[in-house]
Amino acid sequence: MTNISEVVASARDAFNSGVTKSYEFRLGQIKALLKLVEENDKLLAETIMKDVRKPKFEAVIFEVNYVKNDLRNVIFNLKDWMEPEKPDKSLTFAMDTVLIQPEPYGVALIIGAWNYPIQLCLAPFLGAIAAGNTVILKPSEIAPHTANLLAELIPKYLDPKCYQVVKGGIPETTKLLEERFDYIFYTGSCAVGKIIHQAASKNLTPITLELGGKSPVYIDSTADLDLTAARIMFGRLANAGQSCIAPDYVLCTKEIEAKFIEACKRCIKKWYGDNIKANVDYGRIVNRHHFQRIVKLLEGAKIAVGGSHDINDLYIEPTILRDVKPSDPVMQQEIFGPILPILNVSNAAEAITFINEREKPLALYLFSTNKKIQDLFLKNTSSGNLLVNDTMIHFSCDTIPFGGVGNSGMGGYHGKFSFDAFSHMKGTLIKKLDKLGEYANAARYPPFSEGKMSFI
Ligand code: NAD
Repeated sequence: MTNISEVVASARDAFNSGVTKSYEFRLGQIKALLKLVEENDKLLAETIMKDVRKPKFEAVIFEVNYVKNDLRNVIFNLKDWMEPEKPDKSLTFAMDTVLIQPEPYGVALIIGAWNYPIQLCLAPFLGAIAAGNTVILKPSEIAPHTANLLAELIPKYLDPKCYQVVKGGIPETTKLLEERFDYIFYTGSCAVGKIIHQAASKNLTPITLELGGKSPVYIDSTADLDLTAARIMFGRLANAGQSCIAPDYVLCTKEIEAKFIEACKRCIKKWYGDNIKANVDYGRIVNRHHFQRIVKLLEGAKIAVGGSHDINDLYIEPTILRDVKPSDPVMQQEIFGPILPILNVSNAAEAITFINEREKPLALYLFSTNKKIQDLFLKNTSSGNLLVNDTMIHFSCDTIPFGGVGNSGMGGYHGKFSFDAFSHMKGTLIKKLDKLGEYANAARYPPFSEGKMSFI
């Protein structure tokens, strides 16, 4: 095993040297990261496909190109983001300088997940570099080819003292968590999120937790069901359902359910034809463990669409379940596979009650053109993100924070929010040390005469 204490100590020495603080250094490293992605884009996409067997289009669009765009956005904006913000001042501080100065935390640990192995490592990594931290990146062991490639390429392109990759699984992560970091950014399951939270609390280390859970969808009678089906199937079937913000279950009336199922059938046929298994545009489950877990959720379920599977190919057909009860196994865990259960509710109020009785989701999806219903969900539900009339695509809107709340995580990132996540916003007040200021200050110095008391 890598000597983890030494790796962390060298990252700390590098931070303490002050090298990562300047705009020029950060910009140079971010440009080097862009060069890494541009020069190796095909290899990166192929490596993702080796680990996760997702369609090439998805590997390119949701990972490689996504990261390229993110990098270009940071290169364009970094100078502005590093500038101290000058907030409004009250009269008391009218003569003073009031600033909010972003400063790097120090040594950041980033722990990535396997399902989008490049995006989920490089997007936070970029935020940490932009904010001026040194970084230790721990990719997921469940995507080993990607982890190997990152460990090989990052030291070739970036400063190897400031940015290091540690490969490995639970033993290595456990060892890492024994060390003191100044920031920890974790992507993965809620269960491990709690382990990270506990480890971070030993040193009061601030953290971002990008977790998962069950992201609900509500469809009302105003929604065009062909459009709705396409947008929900997009989210449920991309990466064979293995996305943290995939729509996990649908709530709707019995009447909508029947039409929605027919619309989904048409959509699946249009996209994948009659032989879905042979279609290269449809992905696979990452490993046998997850395959068996997902297939078990089908036991005793009423299958409206699909249901076939093949463990040798890690293939699960796009599947829709009807007459699902809240107590069914499929409703007890995040599905993380291409299965969509439908539960019946009679109206929006009942859907909101159902959602609010459960853990706060990472994403909440509403399909309705009724502004009052949109407003009802906006004001009466809590979720990491709310997306109306589509699924998943909010992750690419980088002017809103992406992240969870409650059990689905804490903190947000993407765009400037990634820079902010890895920056301490240092409130700064600069006063003049002059005699003039003392006239006002005399009021707060002893002796506290009756005259002064009458002013408070
Ligand atoms: P994973 O198995 O790749 O684990 C994530 C990381 O946690 C890995 O680097 C792994 O080494 C580490 N880890 C695992 N067990 C650990 C332990 N006991 N102690 C310390 N570290 C440990 O990924 P996963 O957890 O299977 O990922 C799937 C989950 O992640 C889903 O719940 C999904 O919704 C969530 N997710 C969230 C986001 C997001 O942005 N919010 C993105 C992707 C995935």
